[in-house]
Amino acid sequence: MKPSKTSRIIEALRVFYGADAFGVDVGDPYRALVGCILSQRTKDANSARAAEALFAVADTPKSMLALDENHIKQLIRPSGFYNQKARHIIGASRQIVERFHGETPRTRGDLMSLPGVGEKTASIVLSYGYGEPAIAVDVHIHRVARRLGLARGEAKPEEVKLVLEGDLPSSDWSYADGALLQLGKDTCRPRKPACERCPVEKLCGYQEKRF
Ligand code: SF4
Repeated sequence: MKPSKTSRIIEALRVFYGADAFGVDVGDPYRALVGCILSQRTKDANSARAAEALFAVADTPKSMLALDENHIKQLIRPSGFYNQKARHIIGASRQIVERFHGETPRTRGDLMSLPGVGEKTASIVLSYGYGEPAIAVDVHIHRVARRLGLARGEAKPEEVKLVLEGDLPSSDWSYADGALLQLGKDTCRPRKPACERCPVEKLCGYQEKRF
């Protein structure tokens, strides 16, 4: 059977970035959850600073609930939208303690019942916290997949996720997640995609390529 276009793109990216460039280092699911909430609508460097400051003081649901809300806001200020993020972190921590005996849930449905947790955050917790393959469609992957023609231009992130996961064996999901994310950050950027040096340019039908 002929490999899907998605498979051919991932293989081309594997050649370009290297077979070991992306994978999942499984870590603590609660830290993955809070880290993902902090990363919403901000740059990686800002959320990393906020996460470092917060986790230095509290990195379990119980220790988080022992902190004053204003203290959390102060610690996570670099990540932006800190009022809402603090509310989500506290709300999620409280529910983890009260409903899940202090254990971060490991099903998508339970994760998405927590405040501040949508499809992407649930995928990241399952992938980075529990080692379960998942493609977390963030703004970069959403844009890149549609420009490449892997999903419809109007497709929502949930649809893009279904298409990508349906096109690839689950053993490729983690690599595809990392490679498409990296392509979106370093080449297929939002405003000025660097099509002239894109490793998958020949497979891309984007109408507004820039050379
Ligand atoms: S060719 Fe251009 S638009 Fe297509 S994936 Fe590469 S950078 Fe993005």
